[in-house]
Amino acid sequence: MSTIEIRKVTKQFGSFTAVKDADLKVEAGEVVCLLGPSGCGKTTTLRMIAGLERATSGDVIIAGQRMNELPPQKRDIAMVFQFYALYPALTVGQNIAMPLHSEGLSKADSDARVMKVAKIMHLTEVLDRMPNQISEGEKQRLAVARAIVRDPNCFLFDEPLSRLDVELRHSMRGQIKEVLTGLSKATVIVTHDQLEALTMASRIAIMKDGVIEQVGTPHEVFAKPTNVFVASFIGTPQMNLVEADLQSFGDGKAAVVMAGQSLSIAADPAVSRLRPSKVTVGIRPRAFTTVQDKAGDTIAAQAELIEPMGAETLIHARTASGGDIRVVVPRDKRVKVGEALHLRPDPRQTHFFGEDGKAVRA
Ligand code: ATP
Repeated sequence: MSTIEIRKVTKQFGSFTAVKDADLKVEAGEVVCLLGPSGCGKTTTLRMIAGLERATSGDVIIAGQRMNELPPQKRDIAMVFQFYALYPALTVGQNIAMPLHSEGLSKADSDARVMKVAKIMHLTEVLDRMPNQISEGEKQRLAVARAIVRDPNCFLFDEPLSRLDVELRHSMRGQIKEVLTGLSKATVIVTHDQLEALTMASRIAIMKDGVIEQVGTPHEVFAKPTNVFVASFIGTPQMNLVEADLQSFGDGKAAVVMAGQSLSIAADPAVSRLRPSKVTVGIRPRAFTTVQDKAGDTIAAQAELIEPMGAETLIHARTASGGDIRVVVPRDKRVKVGEALHLRPDPRQTHFFGEDGKAVRA
């Protein structure tokens, strides 16, 4: 069975801890993206799975077998790197066939496998060309073709699309996802591009400072971030995170002082555990309705900067306490600079984080 599992995996470089107690299990047919800012330990985690880096402690288990001591070539993994490392003197077809050389296949079997993979990756037309005679997108597909031709235990991708331009990246995301879904293998993809993770992953593991902060489906990490970091990292424009004093809780509503005013906001009953204390209230820019009049559950703010974003408009608004609130409205909603806004947050999309930065939910 194609599975990848890491258990309490830690990597020290001298006294520096690059990855700390990472736990992750990837099932057959699943694509898990490791996502996080530069230097958070994504590549180091991937390299430990591949055997290119040795874990300081913890276990790396592939297809149910502990692999800690095995070199990369004995792990039966196919990797696709950011730099595809194609053989320039071999044709596209010969490049695809390279990984099969150690398998002892007959020429006919090898050719059949190459043709099958070339078809999946839409490369049949360019099989006889040299790598310098194909496009960037075709090179990318060739790198994937070479990885899937051998039927390995699992796949590891390190920033596979980072060299492609925006348009090509967009179409390749879909194509690679489709191919991977059809292969029933465990796959781990490293990326720092959240759009790539949100569109390609079955689940996303979000890392910060060597620690996996949350693992969940794209919907889960967006709709139910477990802490302030994940909340701020996922979603564009970024979630508003407003400091607040939680004063009381009753009738399903939290009484808070935030953005320079007193508000009563519907909240999860678990929020009552936090009171009274400082909390952070998280509201996504698309989770507001702008209403005509001030009310007990509306945040008053003044539009300061208006940024058209195509079908939508991003408004930067200033609250009474001087804080900035980002609000996204449909393009046809006309807002002028200086206009007074009354913003009603959707209670189902309002997140409360305690002083430790963790989300509070039942
Ligand atoms: P990026 O997105 O920039 O590639 P990353 O999340 O993949 O970043 P890693 O490459 O895993 O991050 O690095 C994690 C941390 O470990 C970084 O601070 C990096 O400087 C450090 N690091 C990586 N390799 C080594 C090494 N061989 N020796 C010492 N420190 C290292």
